[in-house]
Amino acid sequence: MADPSLKPDPEEARDLRRALRHGLLCRCPACGKAPLFDGYLTVKARCPACGTDLHEYRAADAPAFFTMTIVGLILIPVIAWYFVALRPDPLTMAVVLSIGMTALTLLLLRPTKGAVIGFLWSQKERDRGA
Ligand SMILES: [Zn+2]
Repeated sequence: MADPSLKPDPEEARDLRRALRHGLLCRCPACGKAPLFDGYLTVKARCPACGTDLHEYRAADAPAFFTMTIVGLILIPVIAWYFVALRPDPLTMAVVLSIGMTALTLLLLRPTKGAVIGFLWSQKERDRGA
């Protein structure tokens, strides 16, 4: 049951930094006390701690885009160094980089989605339906 004392004032200014921090930690952007996700990437409909409606904030493809960009920026120098310094067998390089890229993507996707939801919450960008 939601604690009414924790329910944020809808007119209250929403701090972007705090919302991003809570989102990166996969917590509710409003209170930071309850988990944001129900499962791996499913956003809870409502925060169990403060009652904020979380289903209104649709991240769409933004988390995937940001995650791919971050993973690419991290892996490009790693690939260059790996290829130049170690001269690996191409098949070994493909296997190692595929595993590394997949692991890094799965590791970063959840906090990235949390940060996008936090950003949308701080900007009051609700899904108005299309
Ligand atoms: Zn909350």
